[in-house]
Amino acid sequence: MIKLTKRVGGIAPSMTLAMSAKSAEMKAAGEKVINFGVGEPDFNTPANIIQAAKDAMDKGYTKYVAAAGLPALKKAVCEKFKRDNGLDYKPSQIVICNGGKHAIFNAVAAVVEEGDEVIIPSPYWLTYPEVVRFFGAVPRYVATTRENGFKMTAEQLEAAITPKTAMLIFNSPCNPTGAVYSEDEIKAIAAVCERHNLCVLSDEMYEKLVYDGLSHYSIAQVSPRMKELTIIVNGASKSYAMTGWRLGYLAAAEHVAKAIGSFQSHATSNVNTITQYAGLAALEGDQQPMYDMVEAFAARREKMMEILEGYRGVGLDYVRPEGAFYVMLVVDKFYGRSNSRKKIEGSMDFAMELLADEKVAATPGVCFGDDECIRLSYALSLEEMEEGLERIKRFCLSLK
Ligand code: PLP
Repeated sequence: MIKLTKRVGGIAPSMTLAMSAKSAEMKAAGEKVINFGVGEPDFNTPANIIQAAKDAMDKGYTKYVAAAGLPALKKAVCEKFKRDNGLDYKPSQIVICNGGKHAIFNAVAAVVEEGDEVIIPSPYWLTYPEVVRFFGAVPRYVATTRENGFKMTAEQLEAAITPKTAMLIFNSPCNPTGAVYSEDEIKAIAAVCERHNLCVLSDEMYEKLVYDGLSHYSIAQVSPRMKELTIIVNGASKSYAMTGWRLGYLAAAEHVAKAIGSFQSHATSNVNTITQYAGLAALEGDQQPMYDMVEAFAARREKMMEILEGYRGVGLDYVRPEGAFYVMLVVDKFYGRSNSRKKIEGSMDFAMELLADEKVAATPGVCFGDDECIRLSYALSLEEMEEGLERIKRFCLSLK
């Protein structure tokens, strides 16, 4: 039998696997499962972007391009940073990657040594700790509170830093909590990072998905020094409904981007050339389809909040999300109660039994380091959402 390395053998299997398998099995049996587990926009990629990909193929843009990215796309990414974030980057500071996930992997590979510590505010997106562990480093979680809107404070960050800390992974807007840090909150965190010369991986994948008139603020905007310390990760997956195309990018200090580009040239080489032409159309073309999608998410979020407000009496609580398309529903009041099969002892039990009893799929909070909640995505139609929330309430009321 082939012996696996510690690096790969140690990667945790996805905790949601059992749930997705059960949900798929129920769907295949013709049951109507309402899925709050979705991690991607339920809209198709805008037509102008799809057309740009077709045109690229027709024109024969089907060959290798520079490993770190198509020069025209890197230039468009620089223009995006200038336009949206007031940040000046040169194309040599940009690397086009296979999705945001690959950009995160590259950034950690470039900065984190074996034995280092990486600070991750919790609840967190579940890929972060796995990537950190893959490189032999140790995730150090900072537990945020619901009272503070699931946001890490500067004091918490300061207390978590040790001589071994190599990186902070910062995610605003946040998956899974929907938290969006304000400019002042980010400035306070940046002051700590600057004092400790701490590199920040700023995951800004959900930049465009902010509500209530808020705007996204990047930690790299705080000061030239903070920009030097920051690796921004962004991409087209969420903003332009392009999850399947695999288009992410990062911006970093020149020597970091250069090293990542070289590493990528041997690992994956360039991102699919056709995808890169589509990405060019996404960044440079009509932005209206993206605004329409954000508007639809905003309306769903309003509806969800309105319904959940009415559920507080049932014992369900939530923290109003300000971005992304998720809400953490606090379900721990129901732990210790049972349905006909099982005593609910955590978010995994809650989600599995909810699926079995009411055919509603949601992601257990334990996957994100918060066992008191389940994560509900509102990337589904208003009708499904209303029906699904009604079923969740019915499930909670049925527990004895
Ligand atoms: N960062 C966060 C917080 C995400 O939720 C996701 C996807 O779910 C990603 C990064 C990765 O995005 P991509 O699909 O472009 O790899």
